[in-house]
Amino acid sequence: MAAPLPSTALSEDEWAGAHDELVALLQALIRIPSINPPNPPGPETDAARFIAERLRAEGLDPEIVEPEPGRGSVLARLRGDGTGGEPLLLLSHLDVVPVDATGWRFPPFSAEIADGYIWGRGAVDMKSMVAMEVMTLVLLARRARAAGLNPATDPIPGLARDVMFACTADEEAGGTVGVKWLVQNRPETIQAAGALNEAGGVSVDLAGRRFYPVMTAEKGRETYKISVHGTWGHGSMPRDDNAAVLAAEAILRLAAPGEPSLTGPIEALLKGVEEGLADNAKAAELVRAIRGDDPRRSDAAVRSLCDEMYARALRALLRNTISPGVVHAGIKYNIIPGEATIEIDCRTLPGTTEGDMREEVIARLGDLMPHCTVEHVIGAPPVEAPASGELYNLLCSTIVAHDPDGIPVPVMAPFATDAKWTAHLGVPTYGFSPLKLEPGERFLERFHGQDERVGLDALRWGFPVLFDVVAGFCGHR
Ligand SMILES: [Zn+2]
Repeated sequence: MAAPLPSTALSEDEWAGAHDELVALLQALIRIPSINPPNPPGPETDAARFIAERLRAEGLDPEIVEPEPGRGSVLARLRGDGTGGEPLLLLSHLDVVPVDATGWRFPPFSAEIADGYIWGRGAVDMKSMVAMEVMTLVLLARRARAAGLNPATDPIPGLARDVMFACTADEEAGGTVGVKWLVQNRPETIQAAGALNEAGGVSVDLAGRRFYPVMTAEKGRETYKISVHGTWGHGSMPRDDNAAVLAAEAILRLAAPGEPSLTGPIEALLKGVEEGLADNAKAAELVRAIRGDDPRRSDAAVRSLCDEMYARALRALLRNTISPGVVHAGIKYNIIPGEATIEIDCRTLPGTTEGDMREEVIARLGDLMPHCTVEHVIGAPPVEAPASGELYNLLCSTIVAHDPDGIPVPVMAPFATDAKWTAHLGVPTYGFSPLKLEPGERFLERFHGQDERVGLDALRWGFPVLFDVVAGFCGHR
């Protein structure tokens, strides 16, 4: 028989109280406008200080690091008795992306509660996970205090390994003064047996079943600047080598979807989804078609199986992608531009190197290449953590323990997170911020989106899941 879940040590009333504290904490965090880029710097440190004070009030001894004024991150560590191996890292970021408040139902930093949701910038990305992590530390600290111990220095009763908490600035701009700085200057605060990070563990309803994609991998990113060279001239006499016209042709070639290619993480995802849909022959057949080697059938199957939001994500996960993001050409309407620039955002599959991606860009430009120079701006390779082993298996079993109808599956993210940096220290990092959504919630569109919000019931489900993972992985067994 399986050991009881750590969360069952608390009564229903105690969980209800902890949920109320979680909601209040999340509201307070949303009300600190920790926008990145900060103008002027300060709110990130305000958020770090707020979290530190909350932890200090529970007897913990958090630390604020501030590589640049106003760009603070907060760290904390709870001790186990040292018999359980390397620590678990709870990794999160406290910055949010900028917001245009027009069209929002509530002011984005008001953290209003309405219709069962907390509304505001950061509700999804990712202050709800920060609040669940902080409250997990709070509950563990109280366990120590209830036993007459000092949670800042004594081992927490029941913990065999340490729990580390790093809530960082600057994730939304690459983590230079956040996680990257910690990895390079304070690696002991990141080095762990495994890390939990944003974005995975959120339910997805598909063909009548509820899946929980746990993020084990993310695509790489490569950014290129393409300079297009033509000839300056008088607007009254059109030329074939108008740089704006050449750039337009280049953009069409670059933006066309590439050939699909099945990589390990997506093979594992589709296998898990097919198994989960075993009693739905039609849906399982569609999954097999997505995995099949006929690109047209595969794409049609993606369209039939998923709504447009998930179809877009899945298509991106089946190929290297190129999105033109910035285009510049011209200085005046009656001058033919002799120069244009295009900046493109490429997202690469496991196995695709920067050199491979650049070759693909050059191949697509084809006979335009004599007019183009391609310059690599910045990049990071894909990262992957094992979809097996103690931590991954615990993430999956804990989901099922809290949602017996839930089907955990491994997934790759089409985007990049701070896992790009933890990979430098070899820390297997999982996107796992557990939330159980209402069917049909357009969750992916809330990242950086308008009317960003998180459901109270989704949090009510997710918080004890996270607690059980942390207390379970770090506990005695
Ligand atoms: Zn985020």
